[in-house]
Amino acid sequence: MIATISPVSVTEAHPFRQALVDAGLLFPSDVPGVYGRGAAMEAIVAGLDAAISGLGSDDGTSVIRFPPVMSRAMIERGGYLRSFPHLLGTVHCFEGDDAGQERILQQVERGEDWGGEQRLTDLVLAPAACYPIYPASAGTLPAAGRLLDVSAYCFRHEASPDPARMQAFRMREFVRLADPATVEAWRDQWQPRALQFLRDLGLDPRLAPANDPFFGRGGRLLAASQAADGLKLELLVPTSSDVKLTAVMSLNYHREHFGETFAIRTADGAIAHSACTAFGMERIALALVRAHGVEPGDWPAEVRARLRLAA
Ligand SMILES: [Zn+2]
Repeated sequence: MIATISPVSVTEAHPFRQALVDAGLLFPSDVPGVYGRGAAMEAIVAGLDAAISGLGSDDGTSVIRFPPVMSRAMIERGGYLRSFPHLLGTVHCFEGDDAGQERILQQVERGEDWGGEQRLTDLVLAPAACYPIYPASAGTLPAAGRLLDVSAYCFRHEASPDPARMQAFRMREFVRLADPATVEAWRDQWQPRALQFLRDLGLDPRLAPANDPFFGRGGRLLAASQAADGLKLELLVPTSSDVKLTAVMSLNYHREHFGETFAIRTADGAIAHSACTAFGMERIALALVRAHGVEPGDWPAEVRARLRLAA
């Protein structure tokens, strides 16, 4: 999920964030983009989760819920460090001795960087909910391919005062693995379905081609070809302000990238293609608050009913 908003200073005052905090929807921390969620915020997210289940769970959908960490080796193999080294969070731990612990305590005491005593572990923070699916799908798919419903708490290293640009957030995704024609048809049928889903919640989404925030000079080429080939579409709505739209959902077609990388084959032996439909749970919730107000009890009855919110 990529916002079209421009980067802002982390010390910048943010009226929408303040309104969310004042209403008890979000609880700020001393780190920008990291929040606790209040009961009303969780009720909105739970309502969205249920509505999304009704929307995308066709017969034969496998449901998998992932933890917020995943295999570092799989992220390395999948090429994430080539494209997004600036967004990845890695898990480091202390494996030293008494002397090492003493150095850490002294460094902390002096306000120094104590990362030198930490070692890279086998884990990274999940950057997207669908990533663990591809290595787990290595081998031959069933004849009809595979359809999965996944979610995870995800991490992106991008500190911002904009509450729609969190560092830790929930992502729900549907993932399709099959032959190219099946995957493209699946991605195409999600365009009207995603628009209608957001309209039914009283939002006014715009569907637009987009690109991921690839790193560096080489990344600009990747971004340009991704947008030109129409491989990523985003559904944009106002969240923090009316002028800056934020992507709350995305439709992503990876073509053969994951099939080739992780040796996923269709029943007839060809390299499988993949696509995913992603929902930014907090972003959709914030768009709803932006559209209908900070008090969900005052939202339109049809929106409350869809999200199963008590009157
Ligand atoms: Zn995905």
